[in-house]
Amino acid sequence: MKQAPMTKRIDLECVHCGHITPFIKPVPACPNCGENILKARYDLRALRESGWVDVMLRREPGMWRYHELLPLYNTENIVSLGEGWTPLLHAKNLGLQLGLKNLYIKDERQGPTASFKDRQASVAVSVMREQGITEAVVASTGNVAIAYSAFAARAGIKMWTFLTSMVPGEKMREAAIYGGEVIKVTGTYDQAKIVAASFAESRGLFLDKGIKSVAAVESMKTMAFEIAQQLNWKSPDWFIQSVSGGMGPIGVAKGFEELIQLGLLDRSPALGVVQSSGCAPMVRAWKNGQRVATPVDNPQTIIATLSTGNPGRAYELLYDLIGQNGGAMEDATDEEAFNATRMLAETEGLSVEPATAVAFAGLIKLARRGIIKPHEVVVINCSGHTFPVETQILGDQFARQVDVSDVGKRVSVPEEGLLAALEHMETRVRRIVVIEDNVAAGRLITRILQAKGKYEVHLANGGAEGVLLIERVNPDLVITDLMMPDIDGFKVIDALKADEKRRNIPVIVLTAKELTTRERERLSGQISGLLQKGSFMDEDLLQSIVDALT
Ligand SMILES: *Cc1c(COP(=O)(O)O)cnc(C)c1O
Ligand SMILES: [Zn+2]
Repeated sequence: MKQAPMTKRIDLECVHCGHITPFIKPVPACPNCGENILKARYDLRALRESGWVDVMLRREPGMWRYHELLPLYNTENIVSLGEGWTPLLHAKNLGLQLGLKNLYIKDERQGPTASFKDRQASVAVSVMREQGITEAVVASTGNVAIAYSAFAARAGIKMWTFLTSMVPGEKMREAAIYGGEVIKVTGTYDQAKIVAASFAESRGLFLDKGIKSVAAVESMKTMAFEIAQQLNWKSPDWFIQSVSGGMGPIGVAKGFEELIQLGLLDRSPALGVVQSSGCAPMVRAWKNGQRVATPVDNPQTIIATLSTGNPGRAYELLYDLIGQNGGAMEDATDEEAFNATRMLAETEGLSVEPATAVAFAGLIKLARRGIIKPHEVVVINCSGHTFPVETQILGDQFARQVDVSDVGKRVSVPEEGLLAALEHMETRVRRIVVIEDNVAAGRLITRILQAKGKYEVHLANGGAEGVLLIERVNPDLVITDLMMPDIDGFKVIDALKADEKRRNIPVIVLTAKELTTRERERLSGQISGLLQKGSFMDEDLLQSIVDALT
């Protein structure tokens, strides 16, 4: 196959003063002004004119099919573990719950070390190999250390990773397994970065700037390239990600920008940038309309991955990008993130790490506030896997406990005792009739309830079926849609209230539309809960059920 351009030229442009230098090797800062964020520039017009797109599309799917747009000169230096080309999953269940028809999840958990830092590590370590670097230093909030250590092991490069002590022990062990040196710095991530830099300096070792390196930003572009193709060469309306340093969305935005210049797209998505509430310098500044963020010295979040207190220039770049392409910044508390973790797992079968859940918690807020519109195409970066599950998410109550120690004195398991203990634990099962003519919505509600274990759910497809089902199963609770073609929710409630034996069964109404005053009056006193479809969360639904049943 013919390689598109025979000679590759890469320049570095300073984001602050615009000074341009040819990319010969990774440099710590702009030689002119000292700024540490530099942008790689390629000859996109030559690529476009050479028919590069067709050449690229014939290559194997994977991140390195875009190598002409990555900062590496010789493809023989590529260090790969099969990163990139992750699936774009249509999230129909979560979308239904949030009122977003076109919600897509870019499942970055499926990379070699289970986070989107695999892209960064593959490019960064390949560049190190090309530069003849044999030993390097990087600071990390966890995932960079794991990914760099894995790729460096493959390349035979010695890695020194400096981690803030906030990083969970499991992640530290994961980084250590690849044989590099793991240094736990008791302090914040910003402090760990300083310690790493002075260590590299004193030993004369190469310091990778982590997320602020050219390799990092360039690697993130590949997500945009993949998403655009996965959406049939359309830009999504939104790209959402939780951020720490913030270079992820900056790289993705650069990718969309390059696709526009290559003639493949006509616009870039709005950016949804989400931070953890305990460490949200960007969100705070953005909400105050400030272009410069005040650093957070003491991050108050247990989500170490998102604990960059000082975003520096990255925030200004994001601020400008949002000004240009639209978007919003939002924060989410650790608790909101943990709730989102469960919601995502239960609706879509995706288990994510807390940092990723922050993005989903932010998405939920943006959707509920109407900042993201129902028809918009939304892509969310599902950037990391919860592996292993951190105890904060599940607490110690995730499994049912059966204690048989005091049931019998025999050493073998006393079977009757076990059954008795199980029976004792069982609380009464509550029967619920769900009346919903939208099959998918009905199934979703059923699933939410069944995931909680103690509900027996009977689903009726429409009002007529619902009335019959109520008579047949005598439920403890009825959940009904209002707008249904045959017998609507109002008539179901009328029938129930006219039934001597069943008029006290509580009713929760789910409605897709705003109710008129008259409709509200008609329901008042008749129902114990009213939820607007597309804006409730499973917790709201469960809370209304608990309230109605007590
Ligand atoms: C690195 C990381 C982030 C933050 O990304 P930045 O673009 O560096 O701010 C979010 N989630 C996960 C899982 C990460 O590993
Ligand atoms: Zn400069």
